[in-house]
Amino acid sequence: MSVIQRLAAARRAPQAFTIQYPPSREYFQASFRTPPREIAEFLSSKGGLAGLSEFGLYLHVPFCRARCLYCNFPIDTRRDAALYAGYADSLIQQLELLCHAVPAGSSVRGIDIGGGTPTLLPEPELERVVKALAKWRARSRSRRPLSVETSPEIAAREPGKFVMLRSLGVDRVSLGVQTAETDLLARVRRRQQKLDIETGIRNLRAAGMGRVNVDLIFGLPGQGLAEWRADLKFASSLKPDSITTYDCLYRGKGRGLPMTGAKPPAAAVYGKLYDEAFSFLTSKGYHAAYGSVNFSLHRGETGTSAYFEGRLLDGLPYLGLGVNASSMIGCRWWFSPAAMPEWTRAVQDGEALPGQDCYALPEAERLAKQILWSLSFGFLDLERFRKAFGWGIKPRFSAGLEAAQEKGWLLRKGGRYHMVCGSFRHLPELRALFYTDPALDWVRRGGPRP
Ligand code: SF4
Repeated sequence: MSVIQRLAAARRAPQAFTIQYPPSREYFQASFRTPPREIAEFLSSKGGLAGLSEFGLYLHVPFCRARCLYCNFPIDTRRDAALYAGYADSLIQQLELLCHAVPAGSSVRGIDIGGGTPTLLPEPELERVVKALAKWRARSRSRRPLSVETSPEIAAREPGKFVMLRSLGVDRVSLGVQTAETDLLARVRRRQQKLDIETGIRNLRAAGMGRVNVDLIFGLPGQGLAEWRADLKFASSLKPDSITTYDCLYRGKGRGLPMTGAKPPAAAVYGKLYDEAFSFLTSKGYHAAYGSVNFSLHRGETGTSAYFEGRLLDGLPYLGLGVNASSMIGCRWWFSPAAMPEWTRAVQDGEALPGQDCYALPEAERLAKQILWSLSFGFLDLERFRKAFGWGIKPRFSAGLEAAQEKGWLLRKGGRYHMVCGSFRHLPELRALFYTDPALDWVRRGGPRP
C-alpha cells in the first residue's frame, strides 16, 4: 500500500493507530487464529518452553473495586474472600507447573504483578503469591526485577501491605493515579483523593521501595491543557522516580468515552498535551527521549518496569499467568481462559500456560507489533531488533522508514531512529507507515468498530 494511502487512513481514523497493533483483536481473530491444541503442542516442543533462555513473567490479578469509565481491561469486581484465596492458590500452582517446564538455567528479565488492582488481595493472599515468586526473582540479573501495581487509596490506607511487599523483594510500585483533578475523577468514576496520592507515595517511600512510578492519563473527556498541566505539576511535585503518561486512545481506543457522549480528542490535541508533558517534565529534571511516554528522574533508566522493558524494547518472550493473561513466544501469541472456572480447571489439570484465544502470527505482523511498542519509547533501535528477531527492520520496512524521515518524523542517529521533537501529533500517521498491508486494509474497510 502506498505511503499516501497509509497517511490518508491514519488521518481518517487516528484512533485505529494506537500502541496496540492493531487496536483490537478482531483483525488477528479473522486471520491468524490457531487452536489451543497447537499452542499446547508448541509449548511442549523444543522451540517452546524448553527453548527459553530469557523471558518476562506477568501475574494478572483481575480484581478491582469498580470499573473506571475508560477501562477495557478484563476485570472482576466481586468481593469475596474465598474467591481471592482460591485465585492465589491457582496462581501459586501455576508458578509451580511453570517452574518444571522452563529450563533450570533460564533467566527472568522482570516480573510484573498487574491487573486489575493486585494489592486489593487481602494481605495473607498477596504475601503467599509474592513469596512464591522468590525463586523466580532470584533468576533475574535485572537490578529491580519485581514490580507491583497499586492504587493511591490502597497505598495510602494499607501501608502494612507495602512493608510486607518490600520485605519479600518487591523493588518497584506503580501507582495508578491517572488524574488528580476532582471533576475529572468523578467523570471517569475513580474515587481517590489528592491526599491519598500524597500519603500513598509517602508510605511507599517509608516502606523502602526503590522505585515509585506514577501513571497519568491524558485525553480524558473535559481535560484541557490547563487540567493536564495541573496534573503534571502535582505529580512531579511529589517526586516519584518515574511518571508514565498514557494517552486515552491507548487505553482501549477511548472505548468508554462514547458512553459520556465524548469523542477522543484529535491527534493534534494529543500532540499538544504530550508536548506539554515533555517540556514540563524535562524542565523538572525528568529524562525521556522525545516521544517516550515514560519519564524517569534517573538518567539512563527508561522509567518502566524490567518486565515491560524486556517485552516492549527487546522483544523478549513473555509468559502471563492468571485469567486472560497474554503470553508470547516468537510469533505464537495467546491469552489464557478469560473465565475464572475455566482457567482454574486448566491449572488444576496441570496446564502450565493454558491458552484459549490463540494466534500464530506471520513474522511481519509480529515485527509490526514490536515497532509500535518500541515507538512508545520514542525510538527504534536496530541492534535490539536484530538481536530479538535475527534480522533487521530496515529491509522489511524501508519504505516506512524512508517516508518517516522525509516527513521529518524520524531521524537516524547511529544505530537508532529517533522521533523528532514536535512529531507526537503525527504519531497515528507514523504508526500507519509500519502497519502490514493486510492490517491497513482491514482498518480501511472499517475496523476497528467502537
Ligand atoms: S483502570 Fe485500572 S483501576 Fe480502573 S477498572 Fe481498569 S484496571 Fe481497575
